[in-house]
Amino acid sequence: MIATEDIPKATGQARCPAALTIAGRPVGGRHFTLIAGPCAVESRQQTLASAHAVAQAGASMLRGGAFKPRTSPYSFQGLGLQALELLAEAKAQTGLPVVTEVMDPRDLDAVLEVADVVQIGSRNMQNYPLLEEVGRSGVPVLLKRGLSSTLEELLMSAEYVLKEGNPAVMLCERGIRTFERAYRFTLDLMAVPVLKELTDLPVIVDPSHAAGRRELVAPLSLAAAAVGADGLIVEVHPEPDQAQCDGPQALPTDGFAEYVDRVRAAAALAGKVL
Ligand code: PEP
Ligand code: MN
Repeated sequence: MIATEDIPKATGQARCPAALTIAGRPVGGRHFTLIAGPCAVESRQQTLASAHAVAQAGASMLRGGAFKPRTSPYSFQGLGLQALELLAEAKAQTGLPVVTEVMDPRDLDAVLEVADVVQIGSRNMQNYPLLEEVGRSGVPVLLKRGLSSTLEELLMSAEYVLKEGNPAVMLCERGIRTFERAYRFTLDLMAVPVLKELTDLPVIVDPSHAAGRRELVAPLSLAAAAVGADGLIVEVHPEPDQAQCDGPQALPTDGFAEYVDRVRAAAALAGKVL
């Protein structure tokens, strides 16, 4: 369910809201949204353990990939429809809204059965037919910045959703490709205040994919919160060493509550409440 406050402001052609309500939860403005969960749904046990841990620690939404965009076609591709059923069970047990990625418009109807927010991943930021299809569906969208995309290109991709009459778009900075090789991507935190100059859409930061290793996730999260991000999306796993996808960057569920407390304090510095 989407509600918007008025005070619309133009981003290019379409109008966008000052604040959104997604699955009954306010996003943007004074609200800090923490989306947490595994990179991929791997099993019932792993999904439910992750969901309960992040819910108990105070996360706002649950993430978990059913359809995974993998660099190698031979890597784990996600459990697909079976994963969507596990996400539905996790949502029923915890009450957390579910964020999950769609890569193929042919999967959208099935994804909409469970997703409260549909993620458009970095690799699909400029998949215009997909953006329009998701726009027409009216489902809230988490739109991730492409690996090598400018902020203007990100905003133009958001326009493809907005122009279909869907105002519920969250932008996500997840690291961009630079010459630096010491970490997976370069987290562009300057994008946060600059996007806020350019648009009223909420800006979420993904420290996990930028960092590629969990030691960097907490410091980047605190920095993102302090610089004014409207939220974070972070990968969490009950057994990161056993993860089938992105294990090195996953925070263990054990200790996640302490991480959330630190994020809450950093968000407060920027005047936001988690
Ligand atoms: C993810 O969120 O698991 C993911 C694949 O992200 P990105 O599209 O930013 O690489
Ligand atoms: Mn991942």
